[in-house]
Amino acid sequence: MSERITNKELTMIKLQLLANGISFDSNFLKNYNNSVYIEKRWAYGNGDEEVFACKIPQEIKLKDIVVAVHYRKDSKWVLTSSGDKYSLNYNDSFIIDVTFPLRPKFYDEKLKNGTYCRSVGTLYGGGALGIFSPGSCYNFKQGLPCKFCSLEPTRNKLGDHVKDITPELAAELVEVALTKDSNLIGQIMLNGGNYPSNDYGFLKQVNTVKLIREKMSGLELKDNIEIHLIGMPPDDLSLLDELSDLDVQVSMNIEVYSPEIFEDIAPGKHKFYGRNKIIKGLEKAVDILGKGNVYTVFLGGLEPMQSLENGLYFMAQKGINPVINVFHPDPKSGLGNYPRVSVESMEKMGEILQEVYTKFNFRSLFQGFGRNSLDNEAYLGYFG
Ligand code: SF4
Repeated sequence: MSERITNKELTMIKLQLLANGISFDSNFLKNYNNSVYIEKRWAYGNGDEEVFACKIPQEIKLKDIVVAVHYRKDSKWVLTSSGDKYSLNYNDSFIIDVTFPLRPKFYDEKLKNGTYCRSVGTLYGGGALGIFSPGSCYNFKQGLPCKFCSLEPTRNKLGDHVKDITPELAAELVEVALTKDSNLIGQIMLNGGNYPSNDYGFLKQVNTVKLIREKMSGLELKDNIEIHLIGMPPDDLSLLDELSDLDVQVSMNIEVYSPEIFEDIAPGKHKFYGRNKIIKGLEKAVDILGKGNVYTVFLGGLEPMQSLENGLYFMAQKGINPVINVFHPDPKSGLGNYPRVSVESMEKMGEILQEVYTKFNFRSLFQGFGRNSLDNEAYLGYFG
Protein backbone atom coordinates (compact mmCIF):
# COMPACT_ATOMS: atom_id res chain seq x y z
CA MET A 1 0.00 0.00 0.00
CA SER A 2 1.19 3.51 -0.82
CA GLU A 3 3.24 5.62 1.58
CA ARG A 4 0.69 8.38 1.02
CA ILE A 5 -2.10 6.47 2.65
CA THR A 6 -4.90 8.79 3.71
CA ASN A 7 -6.40 9.14 7.17
CA LYS A 8 -9.67 7.78 5.79
CA GLU A 9 -7.85 4.68 4.52
CA LEU A 10 -6.15 4.22 7.89
CA THR A 11 -9.50 4.57 9.60
CA MET A 12 -10.94 1.89 7.32
CA ILE A 13 -8.07 -0.43 8.32
CA LYS A 14 -8.97 0.22 11.96
CA LEU A 15 -12.55 -0.81 11.21
CA GLN A 16 -11.36 -3.96 9.44
CA LEU A 17 -9.23 -4.90 12.44
CA LEU A 18 -12.08 -4.27 14.88
CA ALA A 19 -14.44 -6.33 12.70
CA ASN A 20 -12.13 -9.26 11.99
CA GLY A 21 -9.59 -9.30 14.77
CA ILE A 22 -5.86 -9.79 14.26
CA SER A 23 -3.63 -12.83 14.14
CA PHE A 24 0.15 -13.05 14.70
CA ASP A 25 2.81 -15.09 12.94
CA SER A 26 5.61 -16.80 14.87
CA ASN A 27 8.25 -14.18 13.95
CA PHE A 28 6.01 -11.51 15.28
CA LEU A 29 5.48 -13.27 18.60
CA LYS A 30 9.22 -13.90 19.03
CA ASN A 31 10.26 -10.33 18.23
CA TYR A 32 7.44 -8.62 20.07
CA ASN A 33 8.20 -10.57 23.21
CA ASN A 34 11.68 -9.00 23.32
CA SER A 35 10.62 -5.54 22.21
CA VAL A 36 10.40 -2.18 23.98
CA TYR A 37 6.66 -2.14 23.43
CA ILE A 38 3.94 -2.58 26.00
CA GLU A 39 2.39 -5.94 26.82
CA LYS A 40 -1.33 -6.52 26.94
CA ARG A 41 -2.78 -6.49 30.43
CA TRP A 42 -6.30 -7.42 31.39
CA ALA A 43 -7.79 -4.98 33.88
CA TYR A 44 -11.43 -5.57 32.98
CA GLY A 45 -12.15 -7.68 29.93
CA ASN A 46 -10.69 -10.02 27.38
CA GLY A 47 -11.63 -10.14 23.71
CA ASP A 48 -8.93 -12.64 22.70
CA GLU A 49 -9.68 -16.15 21.49
CA GLU A 50 -6.54 -17.55 23.12
CA VAL A 51 -4.24 -16.81 25.98
CA PHE A 52 -0.52 -16.61 25.12
CA ALA A 53 2.40 -17.42 27.39
CA CYS A 54 4.48 -14.64 25.77
CA LYS A 55 3.63 -10.96 25.65
CA ILE A 56 1.25 -9.77 22.96
CA PRO A 57 0.31 -6.22 21.96
CA GLN A 58 -2.56 -4.38 23.55
CA GLU A 59 -2.97 -1.94 20.68
CA ILE A 60 -1.40 -1.16 17.37
CA LYS A 61 -0.74 2.34 16.04
CA LEU A 62 -1.48 3.38 12.50
CA LYS A 63 0.10 6.85 12.59
CA ASP A 64 -2.16 8.75 15.05
CA ILE A 65 -4.87 6.09 15.03
CA VAL A 66 -4.92 3.55 17.83
CA VAL A 67 -6.59 0.16 17.39
CA ALA A 68 -7.32 -2.44 20.06
CA VAL A 69 -5.86 -5.87 19.38
CA HIS A 70 -8.42 -8.67 19.57
CA TYR A 71 -6.73 -11.95 18.72
CA ARG A 72 -8.60 -14.18 16.26
CA LYS A 73 -6.58 -17.11 15.06
CA ASP A 74 -8.33 -17.27 11.67
CA SER A 75 -8.14 -13.57 10.88
CA LYS A 76 -6.64 -12.75 7.50
CA TRP A 77 -5.14 -9.64 9.07
CA VAL A 78 -1.80 -10.83 10.39
CA LEU A 79 0.97 -9.03 12.24
CA THR A 80 4.41 -10.06 11.11
CA SER A 81 7.91 -8.88 11.85
CA SER A 82 11.44 -8.82 10.60
CA GLY A 83 14.01 -7.57 13.11
CA ASP A 84 12.58 -4.51 14.79
CA LYS A 85 10.24 -3.74 11.90
CA TYR A 86 6.60 -4.70 12.24
CA SER A 87 3.97 -4.82 9.55
CA LEU A 88 0.39 -5.73 8.91
CA ASN A 89 -0.46 -8.17 6.15
CA TYR A 90 -3.77 -9.13 4.64
CA ASN A 91 -3.96 -12.56 3.02
CA ASP A 92 -0.13 -12.66 2.95
CA SER A 93 0.12 -9.30 1.17
CA PHE A 94 1.85 -6.36 2.81
CA ILE A 95 -0.53 -3.57 3.78
CA ILE A 96 1.31 -1.15 6.05
CA ASP A 97 4.11 -0.82 8.60
CA VAL A 98 2.81 -0.51 12.13
CA THR A 99 4.15 0.41 15.50
CA PHE A 100 3.00 0.03 19.09
CA PRO A 101 2.81 2.08 22.28
CA LEU A 102 5.99 2.01 24.35
CA ARG A 103 6.17 0.11 27.60
CA PRO A 104 6.13 2.73 30.36
CA LYS A 105 8.87 2.81 32.98
CA PHE A 106 6.40 2.93 35.84
CA TYR A 107 5.27 -0.67 35.17
CA ASP A 108 8.40 -1.97 36.91
CA GLU A 109 8.24 0.42 39.87
CA LYS A 110 6.87 -0.66 43.23
CA LEU A 111 4.57 1.27 45.53
CA LYS A 112 5.33 1.68 49.25
CA ASN A 113 3.35 -1.45 50.13
CA GLY A 114 5.42 -3.51 47.69
CA THR A 115 2.77 -3.73 44.95
CA TYR A 116 3.97 -3.33 41.40
CA CYS A 117 2.55 -0.17 39.83
CA ARG A 118 1.37 -2.19 36.83
CA SER A 119 -1.00 -4.04 39.15
CA VAL A 120 -2.70 -0.77 40.02
CA GLY A 121 -2.62 1.21 36.78
CA THR A 122 -2.68 0.22 33.11
CA LEU A 123 -1.54 2.40 30.24
CA TYR A 124 -4.04 2.35 27.37
CA GLY A 125 -3.52 3.59 23.86
CA GLY A 126 0.00 4.66 24.80
CA GLY A 127 -1.15 7.59 26.95
CA ALA A 128 -4.29 7.05 29.02
CA LEU A 129 -3.52 5.88 32.54
CA GLY A 130 -6.42 3.68 33.61
CA ILE A 131 -7.11 2.81 37.23
CA PHE A 132 -9.88 0.23 37.42
CA SER A 133 -11.46 -0.33 40.82
CA PRO A 134 -13.27 -2.27 42.05
CA GLY A 135 -12.25 -5.18 39.86
CA SER A 136 -15.57 -6.83 40.57
CA CYS A 137 -19.16 -5.71 40.15
CA TYR A 138 -22.34 -5.93 42.19
CA ASN A 139 -24.24 -6.86 39.02
CA PHE A 140 -22.16 -10.03 38.68
CA LYS A 141 -22.72 -10.86 42.36
CA GLN A 142 -26.46 -10.60 41.76
CA GLY A 143 -26.28 -12.77 38.65
CA LEU A 144 -27.23 -9.83 36.43
CA PRO A 145 -24.04 -8.67 34.69
CA CYS A 146 -24.17 -6.65 31.52
CA LYS A 147 -24.17 -9.25 28.78
CA PHE A 148 -21.25 -7.70 26.91
CA CYS A 149 -19.02 -7.61 30.00
CA SER A 150 -16.34 -10.17 30.85
CA LEU A 151 -14.96 -8.45 33.95
CA GLU A 152 -15.28 -11.24 36.50
CA PRO A 153 -14.29 -14.22 34.30
CA THR A 154 -11.29 -12.21 33.11
CA ARG A 155 -10.22 -11.16 36.60
CA ASN A 156 -10.68 -14.69 37.91
CA LYS A 157 -8.43 -16.16 35.24
CA LEU A 158 -6.05 -13.49 34.03
CA GLY A 159 -4.15 -10.56 35.33
CA ASP A 160 -2.67 -9.56 38.64
CA HIS A 161 -4.49 -6.33 39.28
CA VAL A 162 -5.36 -5.17 42.78
CA LYS A 163 -9.09 -5.73 43.21
CA ASP A 164 -10.01 -2.82 45.43
CA ILE A 165 -7.70 0.16 45.03
CA THR A 166 -7.84 2.75 47.80
CA PRO A 167 -7.79 6.46 46.90
CA GLU A 168 -4.39 6.70 48.60
CA LEU A 169 -2.93 3.85 46.52
CA ALA A 170 -4.35 5.35 43.32
CA ALA A 171 -2.84 8.74 44.14
CA GLU A 172 0.55 7.19 44.94
CA LEU A 173 0.43 5.32 41.63
CA VAL A 174 -0.32 8.51 39.70
CA GLU A 175 2.59 10.29 41.38
CA VAL A 176 5.02 7.51 40.41
CA ALA A 177 3.63 7.17 36.89
CA LEU A 178 3.79 10.89 36.18
CA THR A 179 7.27 11.14 37.64
CA LYS A 180 8.57 8.32 35.47
CA ASP A 181 6.48 8.74 32.32
CA SER A 182 5.16 12.29 32.09
CA ASN A 183 6.17 12.25 28.42
CA LEU A 184 3.65 9.48 27.72
CA ILE A 185 0.65 10.14 29.93
CA GLY A 186 -1.98 12.52 28.58
CA GLN A 187 -5.05 11.61 30.60
CA ILE A 188 -6.14 9.64 33.64
CA MET A 189 -9.22 7.44 33.63
CA LEU A 190 -10.85 6.23 36.82
CA ASN A 191 -13.40 3.51 36.32
CA GLY A 192 -14.48 0.21 37.80
CA GLY A 193 -17.33 -2.14 38.54
CA ASN A 194 -20.27 -1.21 40.75
CA TYR A 195 -20.51 -1.35 44.52
CA PRO A 196 -23.86 -2.26 46.10
CA SER A 197 -24.15 1.45 46.93
CA ASN A 198 -23.55 3.78 44.00
CA ASP A 199 -23.24 6.62 46.51
CA TYR A 200 -20.29 4.86 48.11
CA GLY A 201 -18.70 4.17 44.71
CA PHE A 202 -19.17 7.74 43.52
CA LEU A 203 -17.83 9.37 46.69
CA LYS A 204 -14.83 7.05 46.66
CA GLN A 205 -14.05 8.19 43.11
CA VAL A 206 -14.48 11.83 44.13
CA ASN A 207 -12.06 11.32 46.99
CA THR A 208 -9.61 9.61 44.63
CA VAL A 209 -9.71 12.57 42.25
CA LYS A 210 -9.02 14.97 45.14
CA LEU A 211 -5.99 13.00 46.32
CA ILE A 212 -4.67 12.66 42.77
CA ARG A 213 -5.00 16.40 42.17
CA GLU A 214 -3.12 17.03 45.42
CA LYS A 215 -0.25 14.82 44.29
CA MET A 216 -0.25 16.37 40.84
CA SER A 217 0.01 19.87 42.30
CA GLY A 218 3.41 18.88 43.72
CA LEU A 219 4.76 17.77 40.34
CA GLU A 220 6.13 19.91 37.56
CA LEU A 221 3.88 18.99 34.67
CA LYS A 222 4.06 20.68 31.30
CA ASP A 223 0.43 20.19 30.40
CA ASN A 224 -2.80 19.96 32.30
CA ILE A 225 -3.69 16.30 32.52
CA GLU A 226 -7.39 15.64 32.37
CA ILE A 227 -9.01 13.23 34.76
CA HIS A 228 -12.01 11.28 33.55
CA LEU A 229 -14.32 9.72 36.03
CA ILE A 230 -16.24 6.86 34.42
CA GLY A 231 -18.97 5.05 36.32
CA MET A 232 -22.53 4.99 37.55
CA PRO A 233 -24.13 8.18 38.82
CA PRO A 234 -24.71 8.15 42.59
CA ASP A 235 -28.06 6.86 43.89
CA ASP A 236 -28.60 10.27 45.47
CA LEU A 237 -28.19 12.59 42.50
CA SER A 238 -27.60 15.60 44.77
CA LEU A 239 -24.15 14.12 45.43
CA LEU A 240 -23.23 15.13 41.88
CA ASP A 241 -22.72 18.63 43.31
CA GLU A 242 -19.39 17.26 44.54
CA LEU A 243 -18.19 17.59 40.94
CA SER A 244 -18.45 21.36 40.91
CA ASP A 245 -14.90 22.17 42.03
CA LEU A 246 -13.15 18.96 41.04
CA ASP A 247 -11.67 19.74 37.60
CA VAL A 248 -12.87 16.47 36.06
CA GLN A 249 -14.85 15.24 33.12
CA VAL A 250 -17.34 12.46 33.71
CA SER A 251 -18.79 9.64 31.69
CA MET A 252 -21.89 7.72 32.75
CA ASN A 253 -22.69 5.09 30.22
CA ILE A 254 -26.10 4.39 28.71
CA GLU A 255 -24.72 1.56 26.48
CA VAL A 256 -27.72 1.61 24.10
CA TYR A 257 -30.53 4.07 23.44
CA SER A 258 -33.34 1.55 23.03
CA PRO A 259 -35.06 0.99 26.43
CA GLU A 260 -35.94 -2.61 25.51
CA ILE A 261 -32.41 -3.50 24.43
CA PHE A 262 -31.00 -1.73 27.49
CA GLU A 263 -33.14 -3.91 29.74
CA ASP A 264 -31.99 -7.03 27.87
CA ILE A 265 -28.25 -6.39 27.66
CA ALA A 266 -27.77 -4.50 30.94
CA PRO A 267 -30.20 -6.28 33.29
CA GLY A 268 -28.37 -5.26 36.47
CA LYS A 269 -28.18 -1.62 35.49
CA HIS A 270 -31.87 -1.83 34.60
CA LYS A 271 -32.94 -3.46 37.84
CA PHE A 272 -30.73 -1.66 40.32
CA TYR A 273 -30.59 1.79 38.73
CA GLY A 274 -32.58 2.32 35.53
CA ARG A 275 -32.03 3.95 32.17
CA ASN A 276 -34.12 7.03 32.94
CA LYS A 277 -32.19 7.73 36.10
CA ILE A 278 -28.88 7.50 34.22
CA ILE A 279 -30.24 10.15 31.84
CA LYS A 280 -31.27 12.31 34.82
CA GLY A 281 -27.77 11.93 36.25
CA LEU A 282 -26.23 12.95 32.93
CA GLU A 283 -28.48 16.02 32.73
CA LYS A 284 -27.59 17.10 36.25
CA ALA A 285 -23.88 16.58 35.57
CA VAL A 286 -24.18 18.85 32.50
CA ASP A 287 -25.80 21.52 34.72
CA ILE A 288 -22.70 21.36 36.92
CA LEU A 289 -19.82 20.81 34.48
CA GLY A 290 -21.23 22.42 31.36
CA LYS A 291 -22.14 21.20 27.90
CA GLY A 292 -19.65 18.86 26.26
CA ASN A 293 -17.88 17.96 29.51
CA VAL A 294 -20.16 15.05 30.33
CA TYR A 295 -19.96 11.93 28.19
CA THR A 296 -21.97 8.80 27.67
CA VAL A 297 -20.74 5.71 25.85
CA PHE A 298 -22.89 3.79 23.37
CA LEU A 299 -21.90 0.29 22.39
CA GLY A 300 -22.17 0.46 18.63
CA GLY A 301 -23.57 -2.70 17.08
CA LEU A 302 -26.09 -3.76 19.71
CA GLU A 303 -29.08 -1.84 18.38
CA PRO A 304 -30.40 -0.78 14.96
CA MET A 305 -28.53 2.13 13.36
CA GLN A 306 -31.58 4.40 13.52
CA SER A 307 -31.92 3.80 17.25
CA LEU A 308 -28.21 4.57 17.78
CA GLU A 309 -28.50 7.73 15.69
CA ASN A 310 -31.56 8.84 17.69
CA GLY A 311 -29.58 8.24 20.87
CA LEU A 312 -26.58 10.25 19.72
CA TYR A 313 -28.78 13.24 18.85
CA PHE A 314 -30.92 12.88 21.97
CA MET A 315 -27.82 13.13 24.15
CA ALA A 316 -26.11 15.82 22.09
CA GLN A 317 -29.18 18.07 22.27
CA LYS A 318 -28.95 17.89 26.06
CA GLY A 319 -25.27 18.90 25.99
CA ILE A 320 -24.16 15.32 26.69
CA ASN A 321 -21.18 14.31 24.56
CA PRO A 322 -21.83 10.87 23.01
CA VAL A 323 -19.08 8.34 22.37
CA ILE A 324 -19.28 5.12 20.37
CA ASN A 325 -17.28 2.10 21.48
CA VAL A 326 -17.60 -0.66 18.93
CA PHE A 327 -19.05 -3.79 20.50
CA HIS A 328 -16.68 -6.76 20.43
CA PRO A 329 -17.82 -10.18 21.60
CA ASP A 330 -15.64 -11.21 24.52
CA PRO A 331 -15.60 -15.03 24.47
CA LYS A 332 -16.44 -15.32 28.20
CA SER A 333 -19.24 -12.76 28.20
CA GLY A 334 -22.98 -13.35 27.82
CA LEU A 335 -22.73 -12.10 24.22
CA GLY A 336 -19.64 -14.18 23.40
CA ASN A 337 -21.37 -15.66 20.33
CA TYR A 338 -23.03 -12.44 19.19
CA PRO A 339 -22.08 -11.43 15.64
CA ARG A 340 -19.24 -8.96 15.24
CA VAL A 341 -20.10 -5.54 13.87
CA SER A 342 -19.53 -5.20 10.13
CA VAL A 343 -17.15 -2.66 8.65
CA GLU A 344 -20.05 -1.04 6.79
CA SER A 345 -22.00 -0.54 10.03
CA MET A 346 -18.97 0.90 11.79
CA GLU A 347 -18.34 3.29 8.93
CA LYS A 348 -21.94 4.47 9.03
CA MET A 349 -21.88 5.02 12.79
CA GLY A 350 -18.57 6.87 12.48
CA GLU A 351 -20.06 9.18 9.87
CA ILE A 352 -23.06 9.94 12.07
CA LEU A 353 -20.85 10.59 15.09
CA GLN A 354 -18.65 12.92 13.05
CA GLU A 355 -21.75 14.84 11.97
CA VAL A 356 -22.85 15.15 15.61
CA TYR A 357 -19.42 16.36 16.78
CA THR A 358 -19.34 18.96 14.00
CA LYS A 359 -22.88 20.19 14.66
CA PHE A 360 -22.50 20.40 18.42
CA ASN A 361 -18.82 21.35 18.56
CA PHE A 362 -17.93 18.40 20.78
CA ARG A 363 -14.54 16.77 21.13
CA SER A 364 -13.54 13.20 21.79
CA LEU A 365 -13.38 11.50 25.18
CA PHE A 366 -10.36 9.29 24.45
CA GLN A 367 -8.27 11.99 22.80
CA GLY A 368 -5.84 10.03 20.69
CA PHE A 369 -5.99 6.95 22.89
CA GLY A 370 -9.31 5.34 21.90
CA ARG A 371 -8.82 1.71 21.03
CA ASN A 372 -12.31 0.35 20.40
CA SER A 373 -13.94 3.74 20.08
CA LEU A 374 -14.62 5.79 16.97
CA ASP A 375 -14.69 9.15 18.72
CA ASN A 376 -11.19 10.35 17.96
CA GLU A 377 -11.45 9.54 14.25
CA ALA A 378 -14.88 11.20 14.13
CA TYR A 379 -13.56 14.27 15.95
CA LEU A 380 -10.61 14.54 13.55
CA GLY A 381 -12.96 14.25 10.55
CA TYR A 382 -11.41 11.01 9.28
CA PHE A 383 -14.80 9.54 8.26
CA GLY A 384 -15.54 12.43 5.91
S1 SF4 B 1 -21.83 -2.30 35.34
FE1 SF4 B 1 -21.97 -3.81 33.68
S2 SF4 B 1 -20.24 -3.30 32.32
FE2 SF4 B 1 -19.82 -2.32 34.28
S3 SF4 B 1 -18.57 -3.80 35.39
FE3 SF4 B 1 -20.71 -4.13 36.00
S4 SF4 B 1 -21.44 -5.77 34.67
FE4 SF4 B 1 -19.55 -4.93 33.74
